[in-house]
Amino acid sequence: MNEALRLRAEIARLEVDLESLRRQLFHLQKECAHEFVETSLARTCSKCLQTESLYY
Ligand SMILES: [Zn+2]
Repeated sequence: MNEALRLRAEIARLEVDLESLRRQLFHLQKECAHEFVETSLARTCSKCLQTESLYY
């Protein structure tokens, strides 16, 4: 297999992993009993890292 094909296959594999990890994080954040730490611009949960802007 040439280098370009190998890299493209590797990218496709990583994209599948990335999607799976994003789903896991989304699920974790949905289930989390958040403990927010506030900064001047946003608040971030110290447990799941979900961030919410303080300005809407
Ligand atoms: Zn949380």
